Amino acid sequence: MIWLSRLSVKLFLVYAALNLTLAIGYVTWVGHWQRQIVTQQMEDHLLTTAKALRSHLATVSDDLDRAVLQSWVDDLARQIGMRITLIDPQGIVLADSLEDPLLMENHAARPEVKQALEGDAGKAARHSNTVRMRMLYTALPLRTNGELRIVLRIAMPLHSIDEQVATIHRYLWILATAVGAVSLTLTLLGARQIMLPLSQLTDAAEAIAAGNYKRQIPKSGNDELGTLARAVDHMRRELMIQMNEQRENSQRLETVLSSMTEGILAVNADHRVLFANAASRRLLGIETAEVAGRTLLEVSRHRILRNAASEAMEKRKTVEQEFETLGAARRLLAMRTTCLPGNPCPGVVIVLYDITELRRLENVRRDFAANVSHELKTPLSSIKAYAETLRLGALDDKQHNMHFVQRIEEQAERLHQLIVDLLQLARVESGREAFDIREVALDEVVADCESVYGERASAKGLHLEIQLPDEPVLVRADENGLVTILDNLFANALQYTPSGGRVTIRIHGDASHAVLEVEDTGVGISARDQQRVFERFYRVDKARSRDLGGTGLGLAIVKHLTQSFGGEIRLRSELGQGSTFSIRLPRQSPRPA
Ligand code: ADP
Repeated sequence: MIWLSRLSVKLFLVYAALNLTLAIGYVTWVGHWQRQIVTQQMEDHLLTTAKALRSHLATVSDDLDRAVLQSWVDDLARQIGMRITLIDPQGIVLADSLEDPLLMENHAARPEVKQALEGDAGKAARHSNTVRMRMLYTALPLRTNGELRIVLRIAMPLHSIDEQVATIHRYLWILATAVGAVSLTLTLLGARQIMLPLSQLTDAAEAIAAGNYKRQIPKSGNDELGTLARAVDHMRRELMIQMNEQRENSQRLETVLSSMTEGILAVNADHRVLFANAASRRLLGIETAEVAGRTLLEVSRHRILRNAASEAMEKRKTVEQEFETLGAARRLLAMRTTCLPGNPCPGVVIVLYDITELRRLENVRRDFAANVSHELKTPLSSIKAYAETLRLGALDDKQHNMHFVQRIEEQAERLHQLIVDLLQLARVESGREAFDIREVALDEVVADCESVYGERASAKGLHLEIQLPDEPVLVRADENGLVTILDNLFANALQYTPSGGRVTIRIHGDASHAVLEVEDTGVGISARDQQRVFERFYRVDKARSRDLGGTGLGLAIVKHLTQSFGGEIRLRSELGQGSTFSIRLPRQSPRPA
């Protein structure tokens, strides 16, 4: 991979191109230079030879006999291996070692001849029409007594120079190729040397970017790469610390948010959910846990959420609303929608409070006040009416006055009972009632009431049955409180069971709890009313209860007392069949003997 990395390939290509350019430049320049040297040497050699021949020619003949000249030319050309030409001052070729002079054109215009005719040594390199190859020429004028007699020209083919230069070129190329190959190999090794730590560093940086903060950064030297590696490693450690801190913070925040009973929903500007704690999902009836990234309307059918989010974002203000949830378990929710910080508003946070219970309690309290007034008013009105009747003459009516006084007494008693119950309930509910909580034998409490209850049951024509376990049943409670519970449940059982029926009081339980049950075969309570009978003043049949002397507070007192002792109350009942009230209390384990 390192060998193929783009940077190393680039580096290699640049270096290779540089190498190639240098090699070509070097070979071309050296070749050119070499050719010049060889040509110069050749020219010098030709000039020296021409001078020697000219001296020799001067001695050969004074006349210009063509035959003599031709023989001299042929003879010497053979010896020195060069072409020799003799030309008269008019440019007419007198003799030539390679061609018949008579067939040769006038040579006065040939550059080397022209220079010689002008008195200097002439030289030229060109293609010869006569011998049809490139030749190097040197021409010298031969004078006798200062008069130009003849031009001596010698020539040799240039291809010998070309051959020499080509040989040198070949060697140069071999050398350049060898040097190039070595330097390219070194380039590759060098590129690898540079790229290896760089590529390791890149891999490590990519791993860190992908979240692997534990990935070690390879150690490098003290060069720039080493400095970079140390900087990346420092960055990695800082990032790791920051990410850990952030993770801890968000975990803390998530724990806080998820343990809240208020629902928290964060939504971005596109109405996509950023966060929803467990309470918000529960309150809105959202079943899927993965809601992040989905739109509000996708996760919840409550359009009001979306509208509140839009309004809060548009007006950049907190929107407060109340609404009832859809679905089977209807809850009343208060919603507070606030813009997240930023401009434009990047989203909203919606806080949901379940105010169902609060509203119910408010209603209960309001009803309670109304009920108390009403309950107090009824007997008072009766007392007032009877007193008025007496004052207006009935006092002297010996036949009826006693009856009216009795009625006043009854109503006063009812008022008294009501006030006693109200005071007791208020004390129990407020938690101010000072209970004497200690170990109480529940079976004994029941047994103590047996004879009184038996009489009251018989008086109503009811059969009372008491079922107690053999072992004592110890609970932690206030004895008077237990008696109040039992009295109320028994009184109700008597009241709401027609004569001939049966009331059973029994105690049972398990290792941890004792259960006191009061069962009757009376009128029973419908399922709808079962949920409400523990409310204050709630009576299934108001008139009947009132006639029977009930205040509607008995079961509320029983419930609160039971809860004060750490227990709970349950009711099983069927209309027309009877009811069973069960008080489940934590058991006090018997002391070791
Ligand atoms: P009350 O003084 O009217 O009896 P309670 O709080 O004791 O008030 O009871 C509330 C209502 O529950 C009663 O009015 C009655 O309608 C119903 N109730 C209580 N106990 C029984 C029972 N054993 N059988 C049938 N109805 C009962």
